[in-house]
Amino acid sequence: MKTALRPLADFTHKIQFLLTDIDDTITTNGQLSAESYSAISKLKQHGITVIPVTGRPAGWCDMIARFWPIDAVIGENGGLYYRYHDKKMHRWNFSDEKTLAVNQKKLQAIAAEIKLKIPNAAISADQFCRVYDLAVDFCEDIPHLSQAEIKQIVDVFHAHGATAKVSSIHVNGWFGAFNKVTTAKLLLQKEFGLTEAQILDQCAYIGDSPNDEPLFESFRHTFGVSNIKNFQSQMKHLPSYVSPSESGLGFCEIVDKIISL
Ligand SMILES: [Mg+2]
Repeated sequence: MKTALRPLADFTHKIQFLLTDIDDTITTNGQLSAESYSAISKLKQHGITVIPVTGRPAGWCDMIARFWPIDAVIGENGGLYYRYHDKKMHRWNFSDEKTLAVNQKKLQAIAAEIKLKIPNAAISADQFCRVYDLAVDFCEDIPHLSQAEIKQIVDVFHAHGATAKVSSIHVNGWFGAFNKVTTAKLLLQKEFGLTEAQILDQCAYIGDSPNDEPLFESFRHTFGVSNIKNFQSQMKHLPSYVSPSESGLGFCEIVDKIISL
């Protein structure tokens, strides 16, 4: 069910935990601006727990968990989370090594088929740091593919029984019953001791594209940066509030609003 994109100014609830997408939500044109980074840091200073939730690879999450002023990070669309806490890296992974090896083989077969059927697509440049998913680039480092080509990529994943989600830059596909929301809830319960009711009341999520829909559907307090309007027609579940500006600037507006409450 779609909910209206209400103006950010109407939001009034106090938030304790902020979960946020990274690409085109925190970043702008593929870059992390000083303003966005300092907004993350400001949240921390105000005692708000910050958890990026991304389709980006395990290798990136390792660096983010260790270096950014955040509390934990969920990567590969929910395949894993890392939390650097008390000078120790805590890693949670969805699958055991054996299952993972089997799934990686299946993803290699899908990659080969995509290269054959959609020759303009490319395997993402960050694929070598990935553990759970196959990311197919449709505009990050290559000319933008058509909607028909993007759909063809999704169809190949589905034909192999994999899950596929479209972000603003990649189609990510994986095997395993996880997504951003199942892993977000697990992390909030296991690492921060929240109940289902507390998750609904105290947590908020910010995103920008269709791969954020599971969180827009499950969380009560949800925000979109205004570039989400580009995907509005393709989405079933929209965030409740939308920022005036796009990408990183919109993220900063939402953070200022949350801090002001
Ligand atoms: Mg995004």
